[in-house]
Amino acid sequence: MSYTVAIVGRPNVGKSTLFNRLLEQRKAIVDDVSGVTRDRQYGLADWNGKVFNLIDTGGFVPNTEDIFESEIRKQVKIALEEADGIIFMVDVATGITDLDDAMADILRRTKKPVYVVVNKVDNGTRELEATEFYSLGFTNNYFISSISGSGTGELLDAVTAPI
Ligand code: GDP
Ligand code: MG
Repeated sequence: MSYTVAIVGRPNVGKSTLFNRLLEQRKAIVDDVSGVTRDRQYGLADWNGKVFNLIDTGGFVPNTEDIFESEIRKQVKIALEEADGIIFMVDVATGITDLDDAMADILRRTKKPVYVVVNKVDNGTRELEATEFYSLGFTNNYFISSISGSGTGELLDAVTAPI
């Protein structure tokens, strides 16, 4: 049985940083089909012997605020079609944006497990600020720093629990 987890979230929240970190650390294999334009990236991750597919969405979206709800919908569609679990990444440095709200509205309707991952929680001050995201109304909330790796172990324990 193969298990798939997708990372969704608006541009610049740190999806690719987490994706690369999880693959690097677990010595996973990145499926890199060169020359093919893709809106997602696939990799294989291994956490304590639990192996799962990881999808990074929004690969070719420019890192600007100038993106639209259509892009958000595309990402979520990929996740809902292909993934068993969904990492919904948000960014404590910017707080909750309209695009975060738009994505949360769609993700609230799925029965698949959704893990709200507040990224860039690099210090104690940001940990306090991160509690703002509880208001999105999801049960599973994780505060992480994709750069330092803090909090990622707890997240991976939760994400791999169904495997
Ligand atoms: P994506 O567009 O969601 O894939 O975001 P990226 O992974 O490309 O990251 C966007 C920016 O956020 C980059 O400059 C990263 O270095 C930065 N970033 C990612 N994770 C963290 C983090 O945990 N803390 C801080 N301070 N910056 C981060
Ligand atoms: Mg990216």
